[in-house]
Amino acid sequence: MASRVDHEYDYLFKIVLIGDSGVGKTNILSRFTRNEFCLESKSTIGVEFATRTLEERYRAITSAYYRGAVGALLVYDITKRPTFDNLQRWLRELREHADSNIVLMMAGNKSDLNHLRAVSEQDGQSLAEKEGLSFLETSALESYNIEESFKSVLTDIYRIVSKKAL
Ligand code: GDP
Repeated sequence: MASRVDHEYDYLFKIVLIGDSGVGKTNILSRFTRNEFCLESKSTIGVEFATRTLEERYRAITSAYYRGAVGALLVYDITKRPTFDNLQRWLRELREHADSNIVLMMAGNKSDLNHLRAVSEQDGQSLAEKEGLSFLETSALESYNIEESFKSVLTDIYRIVSKKAL
């Protein structure tokens, strides 16, 4: 699961951020700098991140990118409809290459740009329900729901891991 040994952590998880170019993955990460969580158990959990952008010409993501990832944040931009429509493609990639138990979360980023909104919150919610994903709208700019998104993914991962350990 972890690609490096780090004795400061009880667990170290790899989470991938995926979504079209420009949706805010880099800013979500830089907003979220501490990369450390304390969940109910008091275990300290570290996170390793990997990001990958979909460039103008669609490039398939190799399985190496997903190897070891236990969580994924699927990001779209609420002001750009195509970035939302492309989530289906990202999901196909994920389901093809990632571990079948990967915890998925969908984030509709740039919620601060409500006046430019091209995807309703309801549309986001409906897709998330259809695909069985957790969902939050986020703003890297306003630091809105960023920590909550990662906490949600990590809490689910931690539940799976602690059940396995029993
Ligand atoms: P990436 O290609 O997915 O990594 O996207 P970036 O993080 O590089 O962001 C692309 C652009 O969107 C940059 O100009 C950011 O400043 C802007 N951006 C990212 N997140 C937000 C946000 O939450 N709100 C607003 N208004 N702009 C954002």
